[in-house]
Amino acid sequence: MNRRKFLRNTSLAALALSSPISLSAIGSPTKKVGRSGHLNLSFSPYELKLQHAFNLAKYSRTTTPDVQVQIEFDGIIGYGEASMPPYLGESVESVTRFLSKLDLAQFTDPFRIEEIHEYMESIAPNDRAAKASIDIALHDVVGKIMGQPWYKIWGLSHEKSPNTSFTIGIDTAEVVRKKVEETAPYKVIKVKMGLDNDKELVEIIRSMTDKPICVDANQGWNDKEKALEMCHWLAERNCIFVEQPMPKEMIDETAWLRERSPLPIVADEFLQRLTDIARAKGVYDGINIKLMKSTGMHEAYKMAVQARAQGMKVMLGCMTETSCAVTAAGQLAPMVDWADLDGNLLIANDIFDGIKIIDGQVTVPADRPGIGVIPINR
Ligand code: MG
Repeated sequence: MNRRKFLRNTSLAALALSSPISLSAIGSPTKKVGRSGHLNLSFSPYELKLQHAFNLAKYSRTTTPDVQVQIEFDGIIGYGEASMPPYLGESVESVTRFLSKLDLAQFTDPFRIEEIHEYMESIAPNDRAAKASIDIALHDVVGKIMGQPWYKIWGLSHEKSPNTSFTIGIDTAEVVRKKVEETAPYKVIKVKMGLDNDKELVEIIRSMTDKPICVDANQGWNDKEKALEMCHWLAERNCIFVEQPMPKEMIDETAWLRERSPLPIVADEFLQRLTDIARAKGVYDGINIKLMKSTGMHEAYKMAVQARAQGMKVMLGCMTETSCAVTAAGQLAPMVDWADLDGNLLIANDIFDGIKIIDGQVTVPADRPGIGVIPINR
């Protein structure tokens, strides 16, 4: 098939699939009465089923609670999502409660994203994943009105997206070996750490591949001397950075570690939003931005700009999410140093087509407007 024919077929398929769909397939939808020329919100719980049990330093789980969101504006549907891993403190109940309080129908212009965020802040100070779901759906509507994907609206270059890492959780030696085999399409491996067998995990991986490793200790190291010893040991084994090595409250110890560590130290649990970045200076070398922490794409973009202005590295991460939120995050990927956008690959019941990993690189659909997704499997 020649390129023109391929593009025409792709856009026809996109048009056919992007027509309004019923949320009834994924749960009982909560829909407010739609009015033309106004933003009309509907949402529905959707439990994400994980491919493998997800084992971290602090807990293990096989599902992630999630709420799927749609905003309709004059026949255009924007898709959004709130994913709520337990440690963030949100739930289907809290997200549903927050979304039920919103009166989005008062807005007649979806381009007023900043104003809609101010309105959401006035409703409640936290509820970050719930706010992200609205933000993502709004960006989808606006991008579709403009007929452009967000990386283009932001003026970014598609081909500058970094390689994404593929995550290997804490597990038995046998499972880790199997997971390393699954990392074949990726050029970077991310390892979850924070238990007694940290070195053993890395040694298993190193016996199978030389690919660079990103380490995420998920606050699992409590002793700064031992953490420093680990950083030196990891640096000798082609590891490229360490994410959240110590508990987020251990600020002085983390600053001590950062001064001496041969590897960059990246903040994840320590930091949620734009206003937290100033506190990270001198304590961390970089920040991990996630849409579910940042209240969505609008603030995530500002965070990337702010971190850069402070001379910090920027990493882009995600939760276990469908391709909806992961593809929305992928629009920002050309701005960042490191990407960890594999959350959609960790679930067994994705309901969107969107971001792809091509030759190890994060790749959002180049010409698909909005956040770049099409609903599937419904
Ligand atoms: Mg992390």
